[in-house]
Amino acid sequence: MIVDPSPEIYDIPRAVHFDGEVMRIFQAMGLADAVGRLSAPGKKISFTNGKNWTLFEQDLSVVPRHNGWFNNQFFNQPRLEACLREGVSRYPNVTFRSGWALSSLDQVADKVRVQITYTGTDQTSIETEQTELVSARYVLACDGASSLIRTLLAIPQEDLHCDEPWLVCDLMLDGKEEFNRSGLQICDPARPTTLIPCEGNHIRWEFMLNAENEIEGVEEEAAVRAMMAPHLWRLSPNLTAEDGELVRAKVYKFHALIAETFQQGQVFLLGDAAHQTPPFLGQGLCAGVRDAYNLCWKLAGVIQGNHPASILETYTSERRPHVNEVITTAVAHGAIIQARNPLKATVRDCYLMLGRAFPFLVSFLKFGEGWNLGPGLFGIEGAPSPGGPVGEPLPQGRVQQRQDGQPTNTLWSDELLGTGYTLIGFNVDPASLLAKNRNYDGLSTLHIGPEASLHEIEGELMNWATEHAVGLALVRPDRQVFGICRKGPDLAPQLEQLIDRLYRQLEQHS
Ligand SMILES: Cc1cc2nc3c(=O)[nH]c(=O)nc-3n(C[C@H](O)[C@H](O)[C@H](O)COP(=O)(O)OP(=O)(O)OC[C@H]3O[C@@H](n4cnc5c(N)ncnc54)[C@H](O)[C@@H]3O)c2cc1C
Repeated sequence: MIVDPSPEIYDIPRAVHFDGEVMRIFQAMGLADAVGRLSAPGKKISFTNGKNWTLFEQDLSVVPRHNGWFNNQFFNQPRLEACLREGVSRYPNVTFRSGWALSSLDQVADKVRVQITYTGTDQTSIETEQTELVSARYVLACDGASSLIRTLLAIPQEDLHCDEPWLVCDLMLDGKEEFNRSGLQICDPARPTTLIPCEGNHIRWEFMLNAENEIEGVEEEAAVRAMMAPHLWRLSPNLTAEDGELVRAKVYKFHALIAETFQQGQVFLLGDAAHQTPPFLGQGLCAGVRDAYNLCWKLAGVIQGNHPASILETYTSERRPHVNEVITTAVAHGAIIQARNPLKATVRDCYLMLGRAFPFLVSFLKFGEGWNLGPGLFGIEGAPSPGGPVGEPLPQGRVQQRQDGQPTNTLWSDELLGTGYTLIGFNVDPASLLAKNRNYDGLSTLHIGPEASLHEIEGELMNWATEHAVGLALVRPDRQVFGICRKGPDLAPQLEQLIDRLYRQLEQHS
């Protein structure tokens, strides 16, 4: 059951960007086509200074597509939410109580008792009480930044320090004029400004405010258009300060916060209830989608009796370090963009320009992926190492199925991974390495290579296997690599050890 006090989708765009891993999650939900129709890949992002010198540039179309999809895509949040709501309506076992809010909860034995209260205005739909008691085995708190559930559970938040006021505006152009579709971070110490052409004719503008006392009156249309005016030429020389419809202008104080735990008993925090990041990387909503994907297969496994309940503890241990790294990177981007001191800004300009010649100097500027999960359900001790291959998503590529050497159909490799654990052999049939007298519950196998009935088109998976010397990869239901066996003559014993480790890990958690 889903409860949400707002009868309507919040119609103000907040998030405008998601990455390739998040698109892959929408694909897993069967919504790739629907989400694809409402999103568009980004072109380029540039950082300039107040004198309009280019400090840093990234062509977004060449950022590797580890997950198969463009790594920087732009969309409109209300349209995405409508698409997700429609998606959920495919499931007859989900009840959506719109206009109802959770008002209290307590955990008793293995149940969570939840009180929900009607907050809507449609009195005709209320037949009896305005409150109801619901008993749930698990509660997922997706109730946003000021989460009542987080407050009721008294879960403290760690402050990663970024509390700056910004004016966030959305301008819809009429589409008659072509305009430059590159995103810009204008790192002008006089007024740091973000200008992002999003999907369609939507332009996102963000203006850093000088101080708390500047907030008064800045949301008014005339004030907003005056702030946009000096930058309109960047979009098109023909644009004037009157063009387009200003759909909103709102002051936000960006925050960098992370809950100390994402779980208390049978209640889990997800999305902004668990963490808040300044939006410099466009990763807040992305982190929430990743939370749900990490948790839900584990919950399904527990409810279906395939996993012990204690596996749910890996939700915090895996997700929290990942989110922490995302927020820390966003705060680092923020420090670059938000430099107000002219001397510091000049040092920054010199450093970034040096980075154009020596890219390793600016490798901390990340656009998309590269953050690792923390320790959890993996075939290694401790936390997965940065750079993989364990604890990162298996790459996704287009593959061809073949019969008698002839291609039959082309599809995404994920479509061939089961809903359980999958053992993938690169140039080796994993089924041939499994012991005949052992029961491999919940495991399916896949053989990729020129000799196999499955053939890669571009070679993303095979290149990844070659790069990491992987002979076999054991992949979790959420496409994260649980463990690998290195290429070599001892693949079969390595595989038995890896599978022992998986079953032991699951037992350890029981
Ligand atoms: C200006 C701005 C730009 C951003 N840009 C990006 C971006 O480009 N990319 C990105 O990934 N992220 C971005 N974000 C962040 C992103 O918008 C949020 O991270 C995301 O919307 C959070 O989703 P959520 O579902 O966790 O919370 P919310 O969207 O806040 O939803 C919370 C829901 O909980 C409901 N609720 C509240 N109280 C209760 C209750 N008691 N009982 C039941 N339900 C309740 C609310 O009605 C609401 O529907 C941006 C944010 C801002 C402000």
